[in-house]
Amino acid sequence: MTAAAEVSAPVGGAGAAVGGPSEGMALRLEEVGRSASNRRFVVTLSDQGRVEAVLYRGDTLCVSTQVGCAVGCPFCASGAGGLTRPLTTDELRAQVTAVEALGVALRRVTASGVGEPLHAPDAVLAFLGWCRDRGTPASFTTSGGPLPRLVEFLRAPHNGATVSVHAGLPATRARLVPHAPALDPLFAVLADELPQLSRKRRKKVALAYLLLDGQNDSTEELDAFAARALPLGVAVHLYQHNAVAHSSLRGASRDAYERAYEHLRAAGLLVRMSSQARLEANGGCGTLVAASGRAAKRTLPQAG
Ligand code: SF4
Repeated sequence: MTAAAEVSAPVGGAGAAVGGPSEGMALRLEEVGRSASNRRFVVTLSDQGRVEAVLYRGDTLCVSTQVGCAVGCPFCASGAGGLTRPLTTDELRAQVTAVEALGVALRRVTASGVGEPLHAPDAVLAFLGWCRDRGTPASFTTSGGPLPRLVEFLRAPHNGATVSVHAGLPATRARLVPHAPALDPLFAVLADELPQLSRKRRKKVALAYLLLDGQNDSTEELDAFAARALPLGVAVHLYQHNAVAHSSLRGASRDAYERAYEHLRAAGLLVRMSSQARLEANGGCGTLVAASGRAAKRTLPQAG
């Protein structure tokens, strides 16, 4: 662990108080990993629950929305221990102000860390509004459910919505994103809702597909995904997986990843590959961890 920075941020206040841990503090930030593009922080909450946040490329902060997650994706470390509790709006804001207290000039924020934002709807919607009011563009990543909340979030003041799909066939979706909407109702809602958004807002919506070796990388699966995604006219983020210790699932090889990219492009989709920052340690999809207060010391990895 490289405790390069430790900052406390009171919740409810406008800013972050720099300094060590103190009584009454609602959130403590500790830097535990650093790679070429990214800095990774453990965020300790007032009840000693822990989540993580990542600063990408020096100006984009990925915050966590829940301690754990109930969706149960088998490739993801964040939900490995189930859900403990959602974060409050103050705890979401405090992640931002605590990182800013380190002297970081944030250009963007994304609610894409530990947790499912749609399972903490009031706090996350208030957080998105707060970000808008202070002029910090904010996006979120969701597995899509509950579907009425997906509609609400798509219409909310955000600067980007990424819907994690990871499958083209219903059985694969049920296996990889188990406690989230099935493909048919998910795409039905997207097909209804996206045309109602302005062209500018529609361009801020994307689908995510995390390519996993032997799980969702077959031609049949990719073709089925492309058939669903094409009519929506939105971009696809094709993510390469960073392995996590607790899961036996592995990312596809680089060759298979590039083949899948070409395959989806040939099908007519606008596909974006994982950025360098996402490929680095401290940056991959599903690698952030959470721990309840009682289990924190036992389960947090030594990142970095
Ligand atoms: S990938 Fe996202 S939705 Fe799935 S378990 Fe992890 S945090 Fe939850």
